[in-house]
Amino acid sequence: MFELTVIGYFSGAHRLRKYKGKCEKLHGHNWKVEVVVSGEVDKSGIVLDFTILKQYLENVLSTLDHKYLNSIPYFKKNNPSSENTAIYIFSRIKKLLINHNVQVKKVVVWESEQQCVSYTEHC
Ligand SMILES: [Zn+2]
Repeated sequence: MFELTVIGYFSGAHRLRKYKGKCEKLHGHNWKVEVVVSGEVDKSGIVLDFTILKQYLENVLSTLDHKYLNSIPYFKKNNPSSENTAIYIFSRIKKLLINHNVQVKKVVVWESEQQCVSYTEHC
């Protein structure tokens, strides 16, 4: 089994609800996002063309880039935390990869160089 990782970036603003602290105030991050997929190689010896994976990640991140996350319908229902951002990205990448022979293993959302959140559906 192989794992492939691609990295993307987006800038966005948010404010956390139901939270007491400085993150309840409007602020922004330059997020770094890692997507890890796993699978077996095909006849050509590759799991998935990196170009496809990077394009899918770009497609998903373009829905967040330079946005106020709280105004996006998903984040009206779900607090725009890095945790929920990881789920948002994971589920959309998973849908885009439905016809490819890979599984999304993990999405890692870095909200600064010091801290990140990982989301996985597999234990
Ligand atoms: Zn924040």
